[in-house]
Amino acid sequence: MKKKIHELAHPWVRSLAVYEPGRPIEEVARELGFADAEEIIKLASNENALGPSPKAMTAMRRMVPRMHFYPDGGAFYLRRALAKRLDIEMNQIMTGHGSNEIIALLGQAFLKPGTNIVMADRAFVVYRLVADAFRAKTIAVPMQNFTHDLDAMLKAITPRTKLVFISNPNNPTGTMVDGAALDRFMRRVPKHVVVVLDEAYIELLPPEQQPDTLRYVREGRHVFVLRTFSKTYGLAGLRVGYAIGPHAGVELLNKVRQPFNVNAMALAAAAAALGDEKYVQRTRRMVANGLTQLEKGFAELGLDYVPSVVNFILVKVGRGRESCKALERQRVIVRPMDGYGLPEYVRVTVGLPRENAHFLRALKTVLKK
Ligand SMILES: *Cc1c(COP(=O)(O)O)cnc(C)c1O
Repeated sequence: MKKKIHELAHPWVRSLAVYEPGRPIEEVARELGFADAEEIIKLASNENALGPSPKAMTAMRRMVPRMHFYPDGGAFYLRRALAKRLDIEMNQIMTGHGSNEIIALLGQAFLKPGTNIVMADRAFVVYRLVADAFRAKTIAVPMQNFTHDLDAMLKAITPRTKLVFISNPNNPTGTMVDGAALDRFMRRVPKHVVVVLDEAYIELLPPEQQPDTLRYVREGRHVFVLRTFSKTYGLAGLRVGYAIGPHAGVELLNKVRQPFNVNAMALAAAAAALGDEKYVQRTRRMVANGLTQLEKGFAELGLDYVPSVVNFILVKVGRGRESCKALERQRVIVRPMDGYGLPEYVRVTVGLPRENAHFLRALKTVLKK
């Protein structure tokens, strides 16, 4: 008998779970019979509702006629701009095809069967998927009050722990741990462990509320801080993120990445967006106002929610997955949370005022049925 192609692969690869993304607008529009994708409101993937920064769009247009060239594989100008802005050495920064790629590269560099990662049970699911892909075990530590329990995570570390992931602020709960709690954790974490601080949403906080985690890199600790242009900077479609870590750690990750992992358009747009302080401030205002609007709406509907510091919020609607389906028929896409052990919740991204209002109206309609 001839074997099917998947039967030729490693059994452990065949059993891997696939990441469930927010449903694309085009797909939902097609399903509902809308010719125009603009009819659909996507509040499912924590994207920036303002669209890309105008400065990034200008930079992208300028790059169009240069797309026959390979990108700068070393991402020189973007790393230089980041180094200056963050007061860190250029050789302590590596760029990735989204910070997701960097999570996978960390897996490739540090994980193998017999090792484990420590993460919170309701933190970003990609950490677990990457651990699975390298056949490492995931130790998932229960959160307290939807927040990372760093003391419990410390206790969960074993001699075989390679990576500890802290998503701060956390997706999908929208909560964060403060600088004092992180300091305490960093003082006590054993030396054989690499700490990964995933700060995908950090720029949404006013600077004085951002914990100074780059200090850990400057102090030479075993730590990588992950950041991205997908959220605050509104460039999710381009796929560009970065890690800040010790020079030796960055060199290591550079060995396992592809030579041109960040494309030329993304490099140009990211560098331009980084300098668009006005856009970042507009984003922070939109998110603060949007959270207020949503929380008020939830209160009026008598719904519990998890207070959030970022551009998405968990709300308890009852049957989450069914509600998401029903909301799609009302032209709005949000995210079910059963995969995170929260079947009664949905996660909604903060949108523009009219998008939030549409969502709240749709939610009211759906809950009445
Ligand atoms: C969105 C997100 C990312 C970033 O993903 P990219 O690959 O940079 O688009 C990373 N971590 C968390 C927790 C996120 O929510």
